[in-house]
This record gives sequence, C-alpha cells and structure tokens, in this order.
Amino acid sequence: MSGIKLKLKKDDIVEVISGREKGKKGKILALFPNEGKLTVEKLNMLKRHTKPSAQNKQGGIVEKEGALAISNVQLVCDKCGKGVRVKRKKLEDGKRVRVCVTCGEVMDKG
Ligand SMILES: [Zn+2]
Repeated sequence: MSGIKLKLKKDDIVEVISGREKGKKGKILALFPNEGKLTVEKLNMLKRHTKPSAQNKQGGIVEKEGALAISNVQLVCDKCGKGVRVKRKKLEDGKRVRVCVTCGEVMDKG
C-alpha cells in the first residue's frame, strides 16, 4: 500500500477510470480520505427509498451520489481532455502546484 496522496480537491473535475462509471466525468462533491473514497456529481447514483416526511409528504425514491474509490478516478487535464496522472511541482515562489504528467500543464490556476 503506497498510501493515497491526496492530489484531489473538492470541485475538481475527474474522470472515472475503472468500474461501472468508467469514462464518465464529473465534479468532486466531497472527499473522504480516511476511507479512500469520494463522491462525484451525478456519478454512481444510488436510489434510496424514503419514507414520507415533513419535506416530502409522498416519500418515494431519492437519488443520491454513492461513494467511488479515489484510486478509480483521475484528475481531468483541460489540455489533454481526459483523466491523467498528476505530479506535484514546486514553483519558484515556493507554491506547490499539480502538473499533468502527460503534457506538463499546470492544473492549479490562480
Ligand atoms: Zn495534460
């Protein structure tokens, strides 16, 4: 186990590289580093049956993002247009940024 270095952040766009959502892209909603999992907007939707409540008098089926393994997603590079491996690079001003291994594009802007 190499240990998951957390190269992903909330609101990053990632591509799923394994499993039933393979090839799909979405925005990270939440990260759960202790479990090695994350949730991505509109991916791995799970249907939950809910009982009637004050907010939802009918009850019914609610769809919710299910957790995916962090190891099954890659950060999407705008330039490459797909999920890529990422390395860390230290800039001259000491700032650490993420860089696309494929094309060298800096992925942290601003
Ligand atoms: Zn790239």
